Amino acid sequence: MAKESPNINPEIPDNGQNMLTADACVDGILKGDRYMLSRAITIVESRAEKYRGLAIEVLDRCMPHAGDSIRVGITGVPGVGKSSFIEKLGLHVIEKGKRLAVLAIDPSSSISKGAILGDKTRMEKLSASPSAFIRPSATGSSLGGVARKTRESIILCEAAGFDVIFVETVGVGQSETAVSHMVDFFLLLVLAGAGDELQGIKRGIMELADAIVINKADGKNLEDAEKARMAYLRALHLFPPKESGWTPPVMTASALSGLHIAELWNAIEDYQKLTHENNYWDAHRKEQMRQWLHESFEDLIYQRLQDDEALNMQMKKLENEVINARISAAGAASLLFKSWIKGLHGKG
Ligand code: GDP
Repeated sequence: MAKESPNINPEIPDNGQNMLTADACVDGILKGDRYMLSRAITIVESRAEKYRGLAIEVLDRCMPHAGDSIRVGITGVPGVGKSSFIEKLGLHVIEKGKRLAVLAIDPSSSISKGAILGDKTRMEKLSASPSAFIRPSATGSSLGGVARKTRESIILCEAAGFDVIFVETVGVGQSETAVSHMVDFFLLLVLAGAGDELQGIKRGIMELADAIVINKADGKNLEDAEKARMAYLRALHLFPPKESGWTPPVMTASALSGLHIAELWNAIEDYQKLTHENNYWDAHRKEQMRQWLHESFEDLIYQRLQDDEALNMQMKKLENEVINARISAAGAASLLFKSWIKGLHGKG
């Protein structure tokens, strides 16, 4: 079963009858068993309370074996060529002897059930490689929840021996910012357009980028791609220097012809070398861990609030009071908070 399971690893439903033990999970992950890795990711992704204890134990035990990878975020609008690009870059990385995990976050998934990332055969060659593991994110969660889960999935993949992690996200929402907070290197894929290269690319996203790649630089598009490159270069000059000491390169590339794929990977390795030397790498990872704690806590509180039926009933009642101006929103919020805290104490 494990040998034949495809490398694109869907959520594996757990019917509760074959509940895993932490020992089995951790042993499997540390041996690099991708079936066990898939199941463990399903468990950390699960919102069900009954899995949370197991997820935490598995994560805690995997932590000492994690961290030794390069985490690369890759974003761009639908159609920019993310999956083709990841396949090409991924195959290059594997040729260099690395093991690659691709985690795909699809912020549209709660509405379109994953249509943007999930409806086509993606990364066929990469998914056939025994050195690759490709995992779309669970659908239907809040962005904060997806971000937390992706961080946890990164830990599990690293413990399973993957030394390069790509986190792919569609550049249509706030997910780029969330992803940039969990990776070492953030790559923005763009397309050349006739004279309006910078249109539609949010300033904030460009500022996050550690490299900008103008994709589809092939055939008739080569010249436009070069023009776009110059435009992006000029735009980047306006930003303040990065805390990492790194100057983001702007490159043309083609997932089709392979143009500059190797150069891009070299740039990522140069970044790694530079930031190891100037200690930014470690400081950045520590800051991300700190943020991770805060976000995990907020996420947990949010989830508990949502799951609290008595509180939700009271909320409904108070909504009515507020709508009819019988009580202020602030007063209602304060009442809700007080009864929530009281309820928590009541539960011991
Ligand atoms: P995604 O939606 O960002 O994942 O984009 P895809 O990888 O699915 O690519 C969208 C379309 O662009 C597909 O038809 C690809 O064949 C095409 N495409 C992707 N990369 C390149 C490239 O480098 N050059 C050219 N000419 N076409 C490309």
